[in-house]
Amino acid sequence: KNPEVHKIKAYPSILKVPGEVDLAHIVVKNTMVPMVMEECGQKGVKFVIINTAGFKEIGGDGIELEKKIVEIGRKHNIRIFGPNCQGIINTDEKVRAYANFTFARPEAGYISVLAQSGGVGEVIHQRLVDLGTGTRLYASNGNAADISIPEILQYWATDEKTRVIILHIESLADPRAFMKVALEVTKHKPILGMKTGRTELGARAVVSHTGSLMKADTAIEAVFDKCGIISFRNQEELCQAAIGLATQPVPAGPNVGIITNTGGPGIIATDECIEAGLSLPDISEITRNFLKENLFAEASVSNPVDVLATAGPKEYGAAIGALLKDSGIDSVMINFITPFFVDCEGVAKEMVRLAQDASKPILAVIMTDKKRKGEVVKIIKDGGIPVYDLPESASRALGAMTKYGEYQRRPDEKIVGFKDVNKVRVKEIIDQAKKEQREFLLAREVIELLEVYKIPVVESVFINNPEDFRQIADQIKYPVVFKVDSQDVVHKSDQGGVVLGVNNEQQLLKELNDFRAKFTGPDVRFVVQEYLSGGKEIIIGVNQVEGLGHLIMFGLGGIFVEVLKDVSFKIAPLTEHEARGLIQSTKGFAVLKGVRGEAGVDLNKLTEIILRISQLVTDHPEIRELDLNPVLAYNQSGQTKVVDARIRI
Ligand code: ADP
Ligand code: MG
Repeated sequence: KNPEVHKIKAYPSILKVPGEVDLAHIVVKNTMVPMVMEECGQKGVKFVIINTAGFKEIGGDGIELEKKIVEIGRKHNIRIFGPNCQGIINTDEKVRAYANFTFARPEAGYISVLAQSGGVGEVIHQRLVDLGTGTRLYASNGNAADISIPEILQYWATDEKTRVIILHIESLADPRAFMKVALEVTKHKPILGMKTGRTELGARAVVSHTGSLMKADTAIEAVFDKCGIISFRNQEELCQAAIGLATQPVPAGPNVGIITNTGGPGIIATDECIEAGLSLPDISEITRNFLKENLFAEASVSNPVDVLATAGPKEYGAAIGALLKDSGIDSVMINFITPFFVDCEGVAKEMVRLAQDASKPILAVIMTDKKRKGEVVKIIKDGGIPVYDLPESASRALGAMTKYGEYQRRPDEKIVGFKDVNKVRVKEIIDQAKKEQREFLLAREVIELLEVYKIPVVESVFINNPEDFRQIADQIKYPVVFKVDSQDVVHKSDQGGVVLGVNNEQQLLKELNDFRAKFTGPDVRFVVQEYLSGGKEIIIGVNQVEGLGHLIMFGLGGIFVEVLKDVSFKIAPLTEHEARGLIQSTKGFAVLKGVRGEAGVDLNKLTEIILRISQLVTDHPEIRELDLNPVLAYNQSGQTKVVDARIRI
């Protein structure tokens, strides 16, 4: 209605704006959006960003309204960003677009922020500003009626000035589409992910052990891991790591060289680095000799290198240069407490000089009074070296940077299926159960199904009564395990349905009679099973997640799973590298490798079982849940067998 708004010329309609318009930023009331979009269509606008709320997120009429604007967009070839979103910022000097309503002042930088929640995005944005870093692109696409998160990622992957992508998500509309894109992007550009709002994924009712071990964010964590996205739970750590990756090369390995001018902070840095999954190897003989010659006589020439409080530019320079040259060191962390008797600005300049063409990352921890020594910090930051206040934050940032390096270097493996499996037979078994409207497969079906996928199962004989028993009595080698088998008995041992170590025929007959009295029902049967002693109990499980596929779980049985919930998950189908990673990422892995003179288990066999399970569930998406609980694992591969299994279709 007014010819001017805040001294900017205003028009009553976009149709009255002279010349071409590339992008419309729509902030009118929700019910007026369709009309405005129609006008945009007539004007030939290609993109609209709609901040307006009151669409899908309010349900009812809002859903209809959103459908309508999507239709208008299709009709006129307009791509829609939003609605109900915070919008975009582009700090490129040729663009300088601000279609947003955040308080954060955008400055040009190399970190791009993609956030599902505008609030989180805004806070992260401001935090980066506080840490003295600019941003490149910013996007928060709200309802994502048209332009999707994978599309934005794909675009940012091609944006040269985006060196690091920060991604905040609450839920994924299409996990598979997201994974396809993210997996490619992370090969050459780091994505730092943060999930909040405990996603819907995986939060459905489950009956399996595997399902009960899934936390609300297990699925998203598994998605991040599969795509090589570094996962964060803490916004501060996320921002600190982003700055490290935006300014420094990616570490080629986990070996850190630490330089310090006081003992204590060096020790804290060491502890924190180890906790972040990094290691502090010895420095080489050459490095040691060089340092002996170039540092003060009292300096400590091992890792961490203590250059002493009196160290100035020359000593710091020598130490940094030597660690950068040492082939056993992948990254350098410099601790500097600024003494008043040292040329601190000189030390800062020396750091910057040496970092100029270093191929290894350098992180600086400057412990100082920033009001008085602000210039020292400024020199280092301006020189492109990330500055941290404390060794803790630098160590975590370096841990994340190193993790990205690992992701980047992981083999580009193909999934190789086993050829010796009988897919058709499994299909028949599943179809039969479907026909009989059974949700769970029968014990004998489960055994056969595992056997035709060449997954080793303990030898079992099913009997109903003493008659059946007499027929097999001659073949039994004691001791055996005696179990009940019935659809109604889910946790057999809880209900007294498992007797381990039955030593002779007499005892077995007694147990049989006891069980017959205790367990009644049309489908009750009993199992005589080979008794496996001394193995390590393993759980391998599968749980299907809507829209994502199967999650495969691995863990050690007993207290590891019951008390410590020490399990890991990955998304099927798995590569061999992933299957090994699944085993290695549990704390119980140390036990499997063997501890204190105790033999470990055959990890190749376990890996093979995991890969065969991965293939089984991928071949047969009807399988919703599967528990191998336990697999008893041994040092000799031939002994490792499944002793209890359940499958839900
Ligand atoms: P459920 O899980 O229904 O209670 P299982 O068949 O898993 O019943 O048996 C319970 C426990 O008994 C297993 O976790 C394992 O420790 C032990 N067990 C079962 N079968 C055998 C077997 N054949 N050999 C050795 N131990 C067994
Ligand atoms: Mg069991």
